[in-house]
Amino acid sequence: IVHWPFSAAQRRKLNWVQLAGHKGNFKAADEGSILKKFSENEVQCFERLRGDALLPFVPLYHGVVEKDGESFIRMDDLLTAFDLPNVMDCKMGVRTYLEEELVRARERPKPREDLYKKMVEVDSEGPTAQEHSQCGVTKPRYMQWRESLSSSNTMGFRIDGIKKCDGTCRTDFKKTRSEQDIIESFKDFVGDNVNIIQSYLSRLMEIQQALKTSAFFKQHEVIGSSLLFIHDHTGNAQVWMIDFGKTTALPEGHVLKHDVPWREGNREDGYLLGLQNLIRTMEALSSE
Ligand code: ATP
Ligand code: MG
Ligand code: MG
Repeated sequence: IVHWPFSAAQRRKLNWVQLAGHKGNFKAADEGSILKKFSENEVQCFERLRGDALLPFVPLYHGVVEKDGESFIRMDDLLTAFDLPNVMDCKMGVRTYLEEELVRARERPKPREDLYKKMVEVDSEGPTAQEHSQCGVTKPRYMQWRESLSSSNTMGFRIDGIKKCDGTCRTDFKKTRSEQDIIESFKDFVGDNVNIIQSYLSRLMEIQQALKTSAFFKQHEVIGSSLLFIHDHTGNAQVWMIDFGKTTALPEGHVLKHDVPWREGNREDGYLLGLQNLIRTMEALSSE
């Protein structure tokens, strides 16, 4: 039991929530920062974001550190500015796997039993006859199947998880696809506080504006990245761009539009379609 008054460290421990990824991938660090398991790809993104228009919307990056013999990326803990935060992770884009993963899997299709089990858990009729007999599905097949169940393909984003200040946490949005279900989930997340909805809306529009001028955004296939929504009872509400583990630089001279359909080979991610739909969803809440 933790007694009032809480120390800063205790408060952070109570606040901390991780809505995606493996539990071992994050550690708390000093002075309001966190450690995320090192990936070369993500480090490169943080380095390239240094002078970019998106910098104000990305957690502050403090370089790579070693702890207990492992490498980590150190960045600001976005939750420290909040008191008992509500947190929602929306994974952006019409697909969450790289084109290169698709190509690799076709060369050496490696059926995986863990993904087969995950598929059956959600829908016992998900696997094909062949997949049932080998008790395995390939990773891109699993990802494509999953994205056809969720709102990724149709709306350009899906909810990955929601934690509310009352302690309840949901990550079971794998089959949440319809616009109406998304609106209901958002409504449950923000409650009926109009000011919070307005703050979220203006922050989303600022991000939309920054994406238009960002060189980084033009030059990257942004896959598996999220917008993290955070608000609390004081009325503080923010949206942040997180998770660049799969965000990949394009070959020299290539740029993406981010708001056109994906066809294999064009590398488009549909990020702006997702953002537009997020804005539309928030607007639907604000006009109720
Ligand atoms: P996955 O690829 O499965 O989405 P991951 O290992 O790449 O997971 P992230 O998506 O970067 O991890 O983060 C997982 C969760 O941790 C987020 O949903 C969010 O709840 C929390 N989180 C990540 N970065 C921060 C941060 N800077 N401040 C506060 N919370 C964070
Ligand atoms: Mg993530
Ligand atoms: Mg990731």
